[in-house]
Amino acid sequence: MEQITRYIEAHKEEFIQELASLCRIPSVSGNEKALGEAAAKVEQSLSSLGAATEVFEAPGRAPLVYAEMGDGPRTLLVYNHYDVQPPDPIELWSSDPFSPTIVNGVFYARGASDNKGNLMARIHAVRSLIQSGGKLPLRIKFLVEGEEETHSRHLSTFVREHPETLKADGCLWECSWKDPHDRPILTCGLKGLCYVELRAKGASHDLHSSYASIVPNPAWRLVWALSTLLDTDYRITLRNWMKEAKPLSDADKRTIGKIDFDGDALKQMYGLRGFIRDMSGSELIREYLCAPTCTICGLKAGYSGDGAKTVLPAEASAKLDFRLVPDMTPEKLLHALRRHLDENGFSDIELNELGGVMPAKTDCEDAIVKAAVAAARWACGKEPIVYPVAPWSGPLHTLCGTLGIPSVAFGIGNAGSRDHAPDENIRMSDYYEGIRFMIAFMRCYSTI
Ligand SMILES: [Zn+2]
Repeated sequence: MEQITRYIEAHKEEFIQELASLCRIPSVSGNEKALGEAAAKVEQSLSSLGAATEVFEAPGRAPLVYAEMGDGPRTLLVYNHYDVQPPDPIELWSSDPFSPTIVNGVFYARGASDNKGNLMARIHAVRSLIQSGGKLPLRIKFLVEGEEETHSRHLSTFVREHPETLKADGCLWECSWKDPHDRPILTCGLKGLCYVELRAKGASHDLHSSYASIVPNPAWRLVWALSTLLDTDYRITLRNWMKEAKPLSDADKRTIGKIDFDGDALKQMYGLRGFIRDMSGSELIREYLCAPTCTICGLKAGYSGDGAKTVLPAEASAKLDFRLVPDMTPEKLLHALRRHLDENGFSDIELNELGGVMPAKTDCEDAIVKAAVAAARWACGKEPIVYPVAPWSGPLHTLCGTLGIPSVAFGIGNAGSRDHAPDENIRMSDYYEGIRFMIAFMRCYSTI
């Protein structure tokens, strides 16, 4: 290990430069040229390791980069993506989002944390291991897509068409973060998601509000309908919906019991006066990780500009996301929601699905989780926190759920990494830790 550590030390600058050159490419959805350039750069980095690479291209799709190398008792699939969120609102960035800038050991760029930094740390780990005379202890397969930020639209087709190529014993998922106390968070699964739009319609066009005593108002219809979805304790009221959730296993309960979750730090960070139902302690972390949600993300109706305008809107709409826990599916949610609206007298409210992913989860005592715990402990010098399910979502089921591959996520982000927001960043110390984690992880997973 000493030799590898020396190699990393000697090549730190080069690693950061290589990451910076990937972050300079504005690989935002819709920018086909940049997506192609980023894919080519990723392919180049992987083939420079000696991996056999292939770029899968098709019209209307961002190229998907695949690489394979090494040999050993286990095969590890590594999933990442090279596309990034748009930088808007660009005026809130302290520096150009696509001109990586380093200030006080912090690397700022769109994609630094989500997800180019994670990808490059893994590539640099393999390089450090090989260049310092080591041998890969397992077979490793990199799958790097360019559509993650736009719901991985074509990933399921790729998985369906290449089950043999993607076959693996375990998968290292794209990313994770440190908590406010700098403890690495490892996650064994992701919640699913169903994103919907509810729409109420009234007159054929907006009317003078003098008609309000005789003409139905779609904004009221929508508000009344929305108010039936949650009670004032924030409990979801769709009939039989909560029964769909798979009960927590003993291993899940044990794992959650070990999490020392700092609710006060969260309150302070987000300026909160309190949590829903005054929750605290173990209930707070259990609900955060394991409860399904129903969130109004946005509402649109009538006039909301400055000053007054008396108007009876012709239409009102709301966007909602429902986070799903294991055994819930977007399909079941759509069915339960439609039935709920109909049973409560809101058959007139349109329900449109805008996207969804299934939840996915690995047993938190699986070998891949144990290997990640040991590697994170060693690389970060701190006991990692294991989340049986992370409260966010991603295409984990599309890849690992479909293929039956257990997975774990580790990443180089920190509590203030600002993914998807202005001033996205990573700390360079976390980047080097990420390289060390990957080396230790490959070794642990090959023997555990
Ligand atoms: Zn993202």
